Amino acid sequence: MLVKTRFAPSPTGFLHVGGARTALFSWLYARHCNGQFVMRIEDTDRERSTQPAIDAIIDSMNWLNLYWDEGPYYQTRRFDRYREVIAQMLKDGTAYKCYCSKERLEKLREEQMKNGEKPRYDGHCLHDTTEHSPDEPYVVRFKNPKDGVVAFDDVVKGHIEFQNSELDDFIIQRSDGTPTYNFCVVVDDWDMGITHVIRGDDHVNNTPRQINLYKALGAPVPTFCHLAMILGDDGTKLSKRHGAVSVMQYREDGYLPEALLNYLVRLGWSHGDQEIFSVKEMIELFTLDAITKSASGFNTKKLDWLNAHYMKTLPAKTVAAELVWHLNRIGVTSVENGPDPELVVKAYAERTHTLKEMAQKARCYYEDVTEYDAAGVKKWIKDGSVEILKDALETLKSLDNWEALPIDKALEELASRHEVGMGKVGQPLRLAMTGTAMSPGIGETMVLVGRDRALSRIERAIEAFSA
Ligand code: GLU
Repeated sequence: MLVKTRFAPSPTGFLHVGGARTALFSWLYARHCNGQFVMRIEDTDRERSTQPAIDAIIDSMNWLNLYWDEGPYYQTRRFDRYREVIAQMLKDGTAYKCYCSKERLEKLREEQMKNGEKPRYDGHCLHDTTEHSPDEPYVVRFKNPKDGVVAFDDVVKGHIEFQNSELDDFIIQRSDGTPTYNFCVVVDDWDMGITHVIRGDDHVNNTPRQINLYKALGAPVPTFCHLAMILGDDGTKLSKRHGAVSVMQYREDGYLPEALLNYLVRLGWSHGDQEIFSVKEMIELFTLDAITKSASGFNTKKLDWLNAHYMKTLPAKTVAAELVWHLNRIGVTSVENGPDPELVVKAYAERTHTLKEMAQKARCYYEDVTEYDAAGVKKWIKDGSVEILKDALETLKSLDNWEALPIDKALEELASRHEVGMGKVGQPLRLAMTGTAMSPGIGETMVLVGRDRALSRIERAIEAFSA
């Protein structure tokens, strides 16, 4: 059997962590089974669906590299197909037109509430034989089975049963002719050949209605896998209060997609006590039976730890591509004016926690240094510092080989000539190079700045600190 999964977000907001976890699990399962992954935008709620939300969801999926084999499909482009199915159901008698007025339904509801019953449609129009004029408004209702149970074996939650008597003849087409959510999902999953529906457990209650629809349509019922919700650090449902919840916010905050994916896979799935999973490994190991039943808790510290891990261990080239995005974001648009970003990654991966921080620290390699950190100046620029800078300028000018080791060596010799510790040489030079007293080794820093620029930065510092 070709396994086919899908991610079917409603574009009413950005892609948040919970949605991304659902997308990842669906994607991983398809990849694990050599199956296919479908992307579908459930935009039938026209009031709440927006184009910026669609764009944000697609951008997030692209950034996470959760690529799809089919789609994106848009439900709003499939209305003809939904109409066709509804017409067939009306013909087959699995659906019927309902002309009940708002007032009648309101009254019915009130009575049922008064009698302590669950409010539900009473099937009035199913048996009503009144003639209606063609322009009289109606909705279409699904003829839900009256008796028995509707049951399914959820991969995560186990056996679930609902009494049909609990479900009413729900509306599948509104009076304006538009189809409703539960109906579209079923037609789509059927048409798209979806074999496994992996989604949040807020949809468990929709499932029995959907199963009855599949059966009425003569469509195969997919396997359901409902994921437990994600809780915030404090044990309550994850929400905006818990900080960044949109995937793109994590990008902006400087996390790597590899770190976020690794983090997400552990929210409700495990493989022994392993914590680090490359994407390749996730695909190899991911099975639905290892999904946990209980809600999983969000833990920002762990995400930070994973991010630090991937900054250090991924190929510098991969990290550099993301660094360039951050540099552009803070206004450094011409990365050609400075060192190869891979060199920045190699120098800073151990020294920074996020790419946002790395980009801020790396700015000085792509733009002129125009200010010096006041605290650094106060601490490190003393009598004699300018003399040292002048000597450093001459020494470095005559250096043939602009590489970290010879630079460091020449500066160490300079420090002994002046009978001072390396700090008194390195720190004024760091201020000159980066505007701050913190950077990688001074030789490495100077290589990143580049020979000509480094020399002119020393000249500029001599001028600034002589004043
Ligand atoms: N569109 C639904 C949502 O965003 C998902 C429906 C489904 O996966 O079946 O919650």
